[in-house]
Amino acid sequence: MEAAMTDDSPKYVYDFSEGNKDLKDLLGGKGANLAEMTNLGLPVPPGFTITTEACTVYLETGSTPESLDDEVATHLDALEKARGKKLGDPNDPLLVSVRSGAKFSMPGMMETVLNVGLNDQSVEGLARQADNERFAWDSYRRLIQMFGKTVQDIEGEAFEDAIEEIKREKGTQNDLDLDADDLRHLVDVYKGIVREHTGEDFPQDPREQMTAAINAVFDSWNSDRAVLYRRQERIPADLGTAVNVVAMVFGNMGMDSGTGVAFTRDPGTGEQGVYGDYLQNAQGEDVVAGIRNTVPLQDLEKIDKTSYDRLMEIMATLEGHYRDLCDIEFTIEAGQLWMLQTRVGKRTAAAAFRIASQLVDEGVIDLDEAVQRVTGDQLVHLMFPQFDTSAKVQQLGRGMSASPGAAVGKAVFDSYTAVKWSRSGEDVILVRRETNPDDLNGMIAAKGILTSRGGKTSHAAVVARGMGKTCVCGAEELQVNTKRRFLTAPDGTEVHEGDVISIDGSTGRVYLGEVPVVDSPVVEYFEGVESSGDLVHAVDRIMKHADEKRRLGVRANADTAEDAERARRFGAEGIGLCRTEHMFLGERRQHVERLILAEDDEQRDAALEALLPLQRWDFLQLLTAMDGLPTTIRLLDPPLHEFLPNITELSVRVALAESRGEKNENDLRLMQAVHRLHESNPMLGLRGVRLGLVVPGLFNLQVRAIAEAAAQLVKLHKNPKPEIMIPLVGSVQELEIIRADAEQVLQEVAEETGEELNILIGTMIELPRAALTADQIAESAEFFSFGTNDLTQTTWGFSRDDVEAAFFSTYLEVGIFGVSPFETIDVDGVGELVRIGTDKGRATRPDLKVGVCGEHGGDPDSVHFFNQVGLDYVSCSPFRVPVARLEAARATVAQEGSSDSR
Ligand code: PEP
Ligand code: MG
Repeated sequence: MEAAMTDDSPKYVYDFSEGNKDLKDLLGGKGANLAEMTNLGLPVPPGFTITTEACTVYLETGSTPESLDDEVATHLDALEKARGKKLGDPNDPLLVSVRSGAKFSMPGMMETVLNVGLNDQSVEGLARQADNERFAWDSYRRLIQMFGKTVQDIEGEAFEDAIEEIKREKGTQNDLDLDADDLRHLVDVYKGIVREHTGEDFPQDPREQMTAAINAVFDSWNSDRAVLYRRQERIPADLGTAVNVVAMVFGNMGMDSGTGVAFTRDPGTGEQGVYGDYLQNAQGEDVVAGIRNTVPLQDLEKIDKTSYDRLMEIMATLEGHYRDLCDIEFTIEAGQLWMLQTRVGKRTAAAAFRIASQLVDEGVIDLDEAVQRVTGDQLVHLMFPQFDTSAKVQQLGRGMSASPGAAVGKAVFDSYTAVKWSRSGEDVILVRRETNPDDLNGMIAAKGILTSRGGKTSHAAVVARGMGKTCVCGAEELQVNTKRRFLTAPDGTEVHEGDVISIDGSTGRVYLGEVPVVDSPVVEYFEGVESSGDLVHAVDRIMKHADEKRRLGVRANADTAEDAERARRFGAEGIGLCRTEHMFLGERRQHVERLILAEDDEQRDAALEALLPLQRWDFLQLLTAMDGLPTTIRLLDPPLHEFLPNITELSVRVALAESRGEKNENDLRLMQAVHRLHESNPMLGLRGVRLGLVVPGLFNLQVRAIAEAAAQLVKLHKNPKPEIMIPLVGSVQELEIIRADAEQVLQEVAEETGEELNILIGTMIELPRAALTADQIAESAEFFSFGTNDLTQTTWGFSRDDVEAAFFSTYLEVGIFGVSPFETIDVDGVGELVRIGTDKGRATRPDLKVGVCGEHGGDPDSVHFFNQVGLDYVSCSPFRVPVARLEAARATVAQEGSSDSR
């Protein structure tokens, strides 16, 4: 029969001989690779693939494309001819499997139905043909079970209970002890289950079975678990799955049959050699489901040497052909080996680096490709200490994975205790509802930070990532009582100050007690500690090549000399953002308070005067650590009230004093100031450049401190390269005023010190208006740095401290975005502003230096985008620097048109 296809209707079905491995979009991974193996001449059972396009039509319209039935009929016809059997033939039936297969592997997430084509007649024919009644009835019961579950939505347990019942009656735990009569009986029971649940008999028409199975596979694309998996793995929701209809081969035909999985290298460690499992007299799902105990693949050599040798040969062929680790599913039917699937196999982060390096040694790939074969996410994974997963644990709750790593320590509920206890040698975990700049010392002292509120860009998360410190944030199910110093888990478990907890910043999990931790040799390598081993060797050679390759510069966000030194060791080529706010906290807060409370110029100047040497000292330290490298120092950004005491605490203090009949004038003035400076939307209020314009002398003080520090270092024959950055600029006029003042201060310092200072003045671009008027702003800026945290906040109108915890889970669920725009740059919106800002800025000033210093600077996907837009550098937290170096190189190689990129 010819398919009734008009010339312009798309082709929805491909024979295996028509496809190839590069057609994954259309044929899905499984279909494309089955086609590839067919074309390589490997023993693949014949079959055909229904395209993902057919699936999308089905999902969009609720029915399959009109021409599909005819196309399937044509291909089935060919399949029947190839096998010399007919689907449902009562004497010698062809059976097929109907298998899902999307572009990206989604293991176990979608459906498969085996043995389609069996019914009450053909089961007898199969038994005669195979001369094996047990096998035929076992196949039939499997069909009803899978069909019932997958197509008819019957709870799997109903079938599992039935087989358990029969095994119990028989007094065995092993499926293999069930004989043909038992299985024939089981089929009757199963058919009863189907009738009971659907009100109809199990369908006897093989074509009806096949069509229903195909549609069920399409439907399984949108099953809850598939949707969840896609969201986690960032797989687009609109790809759809292909369906493979494959002639059945049987691993359950007897002890000379079996089924197995194999890897061409160890996917756990990357070690060379053959790995896998084999199960005699079984069908594929038994291995994957772990129903029965498998034997190591090596044992197959003893069981069936011919098949084993052939399998080894095929595995070598596949590795050579795919030039990578392959994983394989195979079946042996009565001594005949069949390949059911292959693909480039998933692997752990360590295995990815090792294998890439091995393949370079073997001359299979070059270093460019090795860089493509690993990812920044894998590198991150290798850089953090990890919990020993084999340990027994009690989970208290779960929050967001804000900064990876594994930290163990005694719970403390305030920063003072964190510092005190850590000084006396205790490891502590700082537990807060949320952190604020005052917690910095506590955060530095702690091994890890746990908060019950706030998202991935909350203060705790950003600062912890900056320090490379483990952090779990927004663990809302934990009730944190900082006053009474304990937290309560949902199950009622209480953790009091001093109790040990363990937090996993990579998964967001929080555990009671001490979970054992293993250190990262990769961090030791970056730190310059003597370390060896093939993993470190692989990381070393790949990173060296990445640095040669990448176009983008990589700088770090670092506020202290210590962070800067670490960033340098990790390969940073400068500081892209030094936030100066922490330099105004602690003991220096008193000077800021004096500045805010100053009633005349004299008092104000005195406060600034007191701050000057302290600031100069800060910059001396930082510029010394970064000698010879550009160091972008951002002038004060946060609203001033952040430096004043907490209003509640202050009110209590004043009220208590009043009740004692006392009056503290300073507190009363502070109260007034707190009220005066209170803002409903501080993020959109008096901060950044606005502060510089409103508080006379504040920015000048910082500029002077930078210039004096630089001059002092030049006198010492050092090579300081500070750059001054103005935050939250929205209009060129703001910048012009600040710039004129700053230039004057620089001039004064140059004259006073006799040193020629060449200090660039630039701006952050973190407001949409700044991006849109970047041509004007560039008149007054020697560099731009995109503050994509604020730019995301102001472009979306999302409060960066609140929204992730408040409603992002809903946004992710309903698919408004696949990943938080605070994590990965929103290319269409925020990214477009970055592109516009860069182009407009460079139109005015072609040599304008442009970078990014928001959290996105260390995010792999975002780095690719910044590379593509043509930024000069990305700046990220020190621990992210190696990730950015690697991803920048991957972006370059991908741009050069080498093989698959992210
Ligand atoms: C930004 O807004 O992206 C930025 C780097 O500044 P901050 O996070 O300090 O506001
Ligand atoms: Mg900002």
